[in-house]
This record gives sequence, C-alpha cells and structure tokens, in this order.
Amino acid sequence: MRAKRSKKYRKLMHQYEMAFGFREPYQVLVDSNFLRAVHSFKMDLIPALERTLQGTPKPLLTKCSLAAIMANQPINPKTNNPYRPMHLPPPTILPLRHCSHNEDSTPIDEVECLLSLLSPSADAKRNKEHYILATADPPAPPKSTSGGDARKRKRGDDEGFAALRRAQKLRVSARSIPGVPIVYVKRSVMILEPMSTPSENLRDGVERSKFRAGLNDEATLGKRKRGEEGEEKKKRASKKAKGPNPLSVKKSKKKGAEAAGGAKQEKRNEEAHRTADETPDKAQEDGESSVPKPKRRRRHHKGSKGEGNDGPDGAPSNEGQAATADMSD
Ligand SMILES: [Zn+2]
Repeated sequence: MRAKRSKKYRKLMHQYEMAFGFREPYQVLVDSNFLRAVHSFKMDLIPALERTLQGTPKPLLTKCSLAAIMANQPINPKTNNPYRPMHLPPPTILPLRHCSHNEDSTPIDEVECLLSLLSPSADAKRNKEHYILATADPPAPPKSTSGGDARKRKRGDDEGFAALRRAQKLRVSARSIPGVPIVYVKRSVMILEPMSTPSENLRDGVERSKFRAGLNDEATLGKRKRGEEGEEKKKRASKKAKGPNPLSVKKSKKKGAEAAGGAKQEKRNEEAHRTADETPDKAQEDGESSVPKPKRRRRHHKGSKGEGNDGPDGAPSNEGQAATADMSD
C-alpha cells in the first residue's frame, strides 16, 4: 500500500476513534460478497484488513451471512451437508457473530441482518457496538459462452443486477448510519471509504461541542488559571540564573587556541594508550615523541595549500596497501 494512502486511512480511523469511540481490535462485520472478493483477488483476510484499517481487526461473520454463503453450495452426499466453499475462512480466523432476529433464530436476509446490527435501535440510527462493515460488489454474472440461450442469459443478468442492487443498498444504508466505517473491495483493491456525510456531521458536532466545552471551562476557571500562571511565571523567573550561561559563551581567541592544542594533546595521549595496549615499549617512545609536536603543526600550516597530495600524507595509505598485500600473501 502506498504510504500516502495508509496515512490517510490512519487519520480516518483516528477520527472514528475520537468522534465515535472506536477502539482496537476493530470489530469488522464481513459479508458474503466481501469474502468472495477477498478470495478471488487472492488477498489474505486479516493482513489486508490490518493494512486497510491501520490497526488490529477482529473480523466477524453473522449467522445470516453464513447462511447466505452456504445456501448456494452443493450438498455433499456423504455428510448431507453443503460443501464448505473455498472463500469461507475457518472459524479460527473468522468467528461467528451470533445474531437472533426471531424466536427460533432462523437466519434472515443478509443485508437486513447486517443493517440491524449496525443500527440496532429503531428510533435512532446509531452504531453503538462500533462495527465496521466490510463489503464488496457481487461477482459479475458469468457471461454465457454458448450465446444461444438468450432467455437464460437474460435471467442471469437479472439475478446479477438484483445482487448488485442489494449490495449497493447495503452500502447506501450503512452510510446513512453515522459512524460506520466501510471497507470495500473496489476492483481488486481494498479501500476504506471516506466518511459519509451523516458521520461527518456528527463528527463536526462533536468537535464543536468540545470547542464549546473548552470555552466554558476557560470562562469559569479563567480567573484562577490566570492567577496560577502568574505565580508560576514568578517562580520560573526567580529560578533563572543571573548572567549568561558560561557554557554558551564564545571563548576568547587565545583561550580557544589553547583548548584546541589541549584537545590535540589529548588525542595524542589516546593514541599512545591505544598503541600501549598493543606494544607497551613503543608507547613510551610515542609518549616522548609528543614533544616535537609544534614542529609537526608548523609543517601542516605550511602545506595547507597543497594538503592531501603531500608525500607524508600519502605515505601511510601506501603502507596500508603494502600491509594488506603482505597479508594476502
Ligand atoms: Zn443475522
């Protein structure tokens, strides 16, 4: 997924969290069309949802969706049960969401089932369980290859259109419920739909009430707050050190030069220590050789024009090459 899109989705889910109280793991109601699309485009259910929601998903399948999936399956003569379709993940990945719409819990129409879960109350449209809807368009009706049976083909088209209309109705109805994020497989890409207008209106209402609450807080607490602030400022002022920070003051030129010399000396000592670890005898010589340091520095200054292509500078690298050549032998 492109970085731009994932950032957009993260921001969108953050808005759902702030305005509607969504929390990870996100409960995702997946429908039969979604599962078929995920399978046909060779997506991995959990990772794909994870990427789209930019968070941990908890996909759920309602009993009615399961019934819709199994309704079209051929019956296995051995078990007398319908074959489990390839696009239906095992319950370990996709657990059942129990739903009961009538006394004997007979499955109802999938779209009706999902909408009743997304907005359980009849008087107010509200997604109080914080469900995310994951859906897709039904597969395109198979094009008749024989081409001869026009009547049959027309019936197939009609069924296809009916399924498409139902899928569209589900999404339109879900958008009318404020606070329902919709994951949708659009031409082999899993997308998170932009916030619907009812959701945006509610979100903006939340923002406005927050703003108003903030104003009220300030109006009531303003005086005291300001007093506290003044005290704090005084405290801070008294803590302030007099005079400039000695560490931030620029050193005088002479002092700076000395410091640089000191640093060089230190470096030299370090080198001496390092060589001391290797050859203790030689270290002493090096330590003594720190005496003619000024001479070396002068030479450096003189050759500052042609620095780099001097003999002494080039020599060590040549030595190094020789050393490696020796080692390779
Ligand atoms: Zn149901």
